[in-house]
Amino acid sequence: MTFELIEKHATFATLLCASCFGYKPPKIQIIEIENDTKGLVRAYTRVNEPSLIYASSKWLQRASATELIGVLCHEARHLYQFMQLKWYRTHNKKCEIDEATYLKWNQEINQKTSINDKLTDDFRWGIEVDAEAFSAAVVKYSLHSNVEIITELKEKVNALVPGFEEKYQLSNYKL
Ligand SMILES: [Zn+2]
Repeated sequence: MTFELIEKHATFATLLCASCFGYKPPKIQIIEIENDTKGLVRAYTRVNEPSLIYASSKWLQRASATELIGVLCHEARHLYQFMQLKWYRTHNKKCEIDEATYLKWNQEINQKTSINDKLTDDFRWGIEVDAEAFSAAVVKYSLHSNVEIITELKEKVNALVPGFEEKYQLSNYKL
């Protein structure tokens, strides 16, 4: 994908997420990931950097439009989760999560930063199901396409997808 196309799709994803979640569009830092010769690492976020997505330069060059937007929306949803946890703690009016969700997400994120899990274990977590479902909903309703979902997660993810369309009206966003 050319730089212009990467920029166009990344801007679409970050503006869509900013509009849905009510915060400024996250910045994307393109990085070379060392020790990743197969280019498997696509993008990631850090809990202490709630408006920044790191994206692999190797991956960006070969990603399809759908994959690029899907992955960035997945990561931006993690930033939303980090923000919600912070807002819950500070009693911010924009906080949308209840106590049970706060406790669950908070515990998962604390464990995530302390344990070096394998990807397959990682994907059983509630925050991952939530992020994957948001990403699948954007790709389905806005791009009229599909993301690949790990078989064992499909049921949990698909159960959340229609709720995201209802809440955010994703079909109104056009690339
Ligand atoms: Zn994730």
